[in-house]
Amino acid sequence: MTDDLTFDWGGSPYTGINREWEPDWFLTDEQRDLQQQLIEVCEKVIRPNAIIGDRTGAYPQKSVEALAELGVLGAVVPKKYGGRGENNVGIMMLTETLARYGCPSTTVIYMMHMVALAGLVFRASGNPHIQDLISRIDSDCLVGTASYTDPETGGHFWYPKVSSATRVPQGWHVQKKAAWTTSCGYAKWYLTQTTSPDFTGDYSDLAVFLLYPDEVDAKTGQWDAMGMHANQSGPVEIDAVIPEDRIVGWPGDGAASNDEAIDPLAFVQYAGAYNGLAMGALDVGKQHATKRAHAQYGRTIADYLTVQDAFGEVLSNTLASRMYAYGFAKELDDRTNNGSWEMYETDPDARPRTTMTQWSLPAKVLATKAAWEATDKMLQVCGGRGYSKSSEIERLFRDGKAGWIMAPTNEVTRILVGKWALFGADAVDWWNQHVDEPALNNELGKLDVDGKRDLAARLLAEIAEDDAKRVAPTN
Ligand SMILES: Cc1cc2nc3c(=O)[nH]c(=O)nc-3n(C[C@H](O)[C@H](O)[C@H](O)COP(=O)(O)OP(=O)(O)OC[C@H]3O[C@@H](n4cnc5c(N)ncnc54)[C@H](O)[C@@H]3O)c2cc1C
Repeated sequence: MTDDLTFDWGGSPYTGINREWEPDWFLTDEQRDLQQQLIEVCEKVIRPNAIIGDRTGAYPQKSVEALAELGVLGAVVPKKYGGRGENNVGIMMLTETLARYGCPSTTVIYMMHMVALAGLVFRASGNPHIQDLISRIDSDCLVGTASYTDPETGGHFWYPKVSSATRVPQGWHVQKKAAWTTSCGYAKWYLTQTTSPDFTGDYSDLAVFLLYPDEVDAKTGQWDAMGMHANQSGPVEIDAVIPEDRIVGWPGDGAASNDEAIDPLAFVQYAGAYNGLAMGALDVGKQHATKRAHAQYGRTIADYLTVQDAFGEVLSNTLASRMYAYGFAKELDDRTNNGSWEMYETDPDARPRTTMTQWSLPAKVLATKAAWEATDKMLQVCGGRGYSKSSEIERLFRDGKAGWIMAPTNEVTRILVGKWALFGADAVDWWNQHVDEPALNNELGKLDVDGKRDLAARLLAEIAEDDAKRVAPTN
């Protein structure tokens, strides 16, 4: 028997936090139905697979196939290309539900896939190759991934030092090293970012490319991490010549792709994934706390005020993060004609999603912090049993830390927010291009006359070298 407060989970009522704590007024009736369907898929396929994947590291292929069968692997694809045309609130709900009731590793796979898919959808107009691919995502179960993070610049994934792209008669010669790539060796397609073919030293001059498995050297099977075991993240190296139509957008379009497609989806899904994980931890904690009894008092541990306080604190903070996240997603929908991607067909320079950048950053910080706090406190609530590998909370605790570390790390994100709040958007200096005059003058003030003379000589020599290169360019 179930009532409005819960739902069926394998023949019994789900015993996690009741539905009265769901901010489901953000969802349409269709999205509520879809959520219920996804919960059923989680119960039957994805949660059992999560436990296996955590123990063995096996890639959750069956879970990915179940998402394709439900028709949500192509959720962000517009209806005219056969997708669901899901809005930002819907994508957040799907990601949250998958993490809470299903599997955090599968959620990161889903997230990196959807982020990359958004990059394709953003520039599908005028590219039949991309249109064909995105129209087959669900029917052919085409899971993709984003191969962005650079080994030299780490969490600043938007700064690809070890990469290049050049024009060649057959199309493009793409070279790239990516330190991490989710679904490494399992993805059916890869989205990657390099410096632009026109690159002359400006790191905001970027380009995006679509590659297939035979064009990348994916170091499969190297993933051995604290958590997210089934995620199968790994290094990828690219040195391939690919056809002309595999550029996504055009040379120099990479920064726009980040601002308008990759980042908005990433932040919506970071929030969904880690708020869902936090709620999942509360569910597991409640299941334990309401069952575990102490014989000397004849009461459950849920009766202790310390345990009630832990639930009150974690739930309050998680709900605050969820309300922020859904509010942000709803505003994104309002500014984009309900999550539409059509405006870029007529106006490639449209930037409605970019106008929400400063609001997107805190969504990641809040959700990943909520997940960390929730898994830590719920592990404590579960006591010695929680510490045991047989408990679900131990797995969530390990998985929960990944969000804090994923790019941009929470430290980097908070610095971006703080700088922006203190000095305005320009001060953020995404591409490390603005000279820090006070720091420069401070350091110059430390040099004596000889030091200044040496520095001046070095700078003049560098200028002469640059001038010589400009006069006689080499091929
Ligand atoms: C499970 C998982 C899956 C992933 N999947 C993908 C994927 O599919 N595709 C992909 O491209 N990447 C992926 N990543 C990579 C991820 O997004 C990050 O880029 C990566 O984790 C950063 O690691 P790093 O070791 O390079 O950290 P670094 O960037 O070297 O950071 C190390 C430390 O220095 C701090 N730090 C860094 N820069 C600054 C600064 N300017 N100021 C102050 N502190 C700073 C950081 O906060 C951190 O504490 C994944 C990571 C994980 C954990």
